[in-house]
Amino acid sequence: MNRREFFLSIAGMSLTLPVWARLLREQASPRMPALFLGHGNPMNAIQDNPFTRRLQEVGRELPRPQAALVVSAHWETRGTWVQASAQPRTIHDFGGFPPALFAVQYPAPGSPEWAQKTIDVGQAHQVLVHPTEEWGLDHGTWSVLRFLYPDADVPLFQLSLDIARSPQQHHELARLLRTLREQGVMIIGSGNLVHNLREVDWHHQYGGPVFDWAQDFDQRLVQLIAQQNIAQLATTTPDALFRRAQPTLEHYLPLLYVLGASYPDEQPQYFYEDFQHGSISMRSFLMAKA
Ligand code: ZN
Repeated sequence: MNRREFFLSIAGMSLTLPVWARLLREQASPRMPALFLGHGNPMNAIQDNPFTRRLQEVGRELPRPQAALVVSAHWETRGTWVQASAQPRTIHDFGGFPPALFAVQYPAPGSPEWAQKTIDVGQAHQVLVHPTEEWGLDHGTWSVLRFLYPDADVPLFQLSLDIARSPQQHHELARLLRTLREQGVMIIGSGNLVHNLREVDWHHQYGGPVFDWAQDFDQRLVQLIAQQNIAQLATTTPDALFRRAQPTLEHYLPLLYVLGASYPDEQPQYFYEDFQHGSISMRSFLMAKA
C-alpha cells in the first residue's frame, strides 16, 4: 500500500466508525469493547500525527467504561500482578528521549475496587493475582490513553505479564477476565503486532519503506485473528517469520489478552493500520459484534 492508498483507506475507515459505535450503543448489555492498541515509539505520546489523530477520533466514539484494564507490553513480572493504587503514578520507563516526554503526566485515577474484582475472578478459578501499589501507568498505557481519553477521567488499572506463563496460558487468563467486560470494564491490550527493534529504520518514523517480512507477518495475523485460530496465534513453536517479527514476545502477548477477552460473535474492527520505522506495526482494532 502506498501513502496515497493508505490515506484513502483511513478515510474509508472513518466512514465506517459510526456503524460500530452505534452497534455498541444499541447493545442491551453494558458489555464494553476490547481494544488492541499499537503504541510503538514513545514519541507518539507528544506528536500530532496520523496515528494519534486517529486515536483521538476513536476516543470520541467509544463508550465510557467504568474503568479500563490495561495489559501493557512494558510490565513484565514473575507471577500475575494487578495495579491497585487509587492514584497510579505516571511512569517514564524509557531513556534518551527529550524532556517534553518526561514531563508528560497522565493523572487518571486508579481503581482499587476493580483490581480487587480482578483478584476475585482469578481466585474463583484458582489463579493467583497479586495486588501491588508499586507500579503505576507505564508508557504502554499513558502514551495511547492520553489520546483516547484526554481528560484522564477513566479509572485505569494495569495487569502484568507473567513471564512464566505460556502464550496459551495468557490467553486462558484473559478468557477468565472476559466477564469484567459485561460489568462495564473495557479491556485494552497495548503492544505491537510486529515489533522488531533490532531492524528498525530510525531515520523514518513515517514514510520510509516497510520491510516485506513485517508486512507478511502483519497480514498473517489478520488472517489468523479472522479465523480465531488461537492454536496458531498462541503457538509455542514459532517459525522463522514469527521470530523475526516478534523476537521477544512482550509486545505480542497483549494481543492474546484482547483475543482471550473476546466472544465468538465478535470480529476485529480495524481502525488504524500503518507501520512506523519499517518494522513496527501500528495496527489497532476493536473487538465488536460483526
Ligand atoms: Zn513498547
